[in-house]
Amino acid sequence: MRFVIVGGGVIALLTAVNCISAGHAVVLVDQAGIPFSGATSFDRHRVTRALHLNDPAVTRAAVDAHYRWIVLQDMLSTRIYEQVGALSVLPREKLSPAETMLAECGSQARVLDPDDLAAAFPQVEFPAGESAVFESHAGVLLADRILAACAGWLRWHAHADLHPHRRAVEIDVDGAAVRLADGETLRADGVLLAAGPWSRSLLPAELAAELVLYRQSMLYCEVPDRAAWAETPPMLSLGKDGGAWLVPPVAGTPLKLSAASACRQVDEVTDNSTPARWRDHLLDAFSTVIPGFRTDWLTDTRDCYYLARSSTQGPMLAALGERVFSYAACGGSSFKFAPLIAESLAARLTGNVPTPTGIGHLDRPMQFMRGVS
Ligand SMILES: Cc1cc2nc3c(=O)[nH]c(=O)nc-3n(C[C@H](O)[C@H](O)[C@H](O)COP(=O)(O)OP(=O)(O)OC[C@H]3O[C@@H](n4cnc5c(N)ncnc54)[C@H](O)[C@@H]3O)c2cc1C
Repeated sequence: MRFVIVGGGVIALLTAVNCISAGHAVVLVDQAGIPFSGATSFDRHRVTRALHLNDPAVTRAAVDAHYRWIVLQDMLSTRIYEQVGALSVLPREKLSPAETMLAECGSQARVLDPDDLAAAFPQVEFPAGESAVFESHAGVLLADRILAACAGWLRWHAHADLHPHRRAVEIDVDGAAVRLADGETLRADGVLLAAGPWSRSLLPAELAAELVLYRQSMLYCEVPDRAAWAETPPMLSLGKDGGAWLVPPVAGTPLKLSAASACRQVDEVTDNSTPARWRDHLLDAFSTVIPGFRTDWLTDTRDCYYLARSSTQGPMLAALGERVFSYAACGGSSFKFAPLIAESLAARLTGNVPTPTGIGHLDRPMQFMRGVS
């Protein structure tokens, strides 16, 4: 069979890899380069951690995804995953249940009390009196290297046809076809729309109306003492209001800093530059999180976009036709789950029943065929 995939982000590329590995042919189109530096997936890193409080099924899926990344790393022959663990600061009453659930789901975890945290990570100031859970089946995914490695794998594959700089303008769900801005129509046995934050322009109006667009600012820093940060895990729930997070400078990447408070709802995807106001907001937030933090550590800033369903704040997988699907990914966790998402999407495209993942929206897509939701 032959499939058309719209998008060149992590969801599209990994789904293409899965389809081709199963013996099918793929035509993949992106409005820009493949990979495209403006895509949500395109960043130095993304965090993978298993802990989803009160949700063992999704936690188990995240442990599964951790192993899939290790397998992919072998297949792509590229270092794409730094397994440095992950640290989540949690309220006291949630520490022990989180530790137990992680262990039951196949991860390894241990609680670090305030003294442990101060001794292990003196480069970070934790909220007074707070403890954290450290999990080991977690770490940093080297996002831009993953996209480049997948694109490279596909480029050399006889059954993959990559078309950068070709924008899709319409999806024909009955005919399983994609019309491009240059007038050509690509017909296939199935279509996947994985257009990230741009998805709304290609979706039926009712679905597009359910998706909210967010823009988030990030800071990139060169730390003076790389060795001190080398074994640092990504850290979540830092700062006064618990919304700040950092990704360590592993594998030659910069230290990355952001916070939930630097995320805001916007109307459309425009540029990726960070307005001074949001840069200063993050600099201010991290002056109390990292002792000795200096503004001259800052080497770059970037804004990134993501969509979320207004009802769930999660991603939207919709069946638009018999073999036509749209996956509008969300912020937070779609990158780490991408190997599971891609396997599930490839199964649906090829007419097979996907193996349940434990992730609700993936196992039970919205049915939106012929306008019936
Ligand atoms: C600040 C931030 C931090 C995040 N952190 C994490 C994290 O730590 N862990 C995690 O798991 N997830 C994280 N995420 C979420 C994750 O990065 C995204 O969900 C995921 O990368 C989205 O991938 P995608 O392939 O769906 O979309 P994208 O990567 O945006 O790719 C979409 C592609 O489609 C192309 N396209 C769009 N429209 C068209 C068209 N009409 N025709 C042709 N091509 C088109 C675009 O050019 C683009 O290349 C984060 C997100 C943000 C914003």
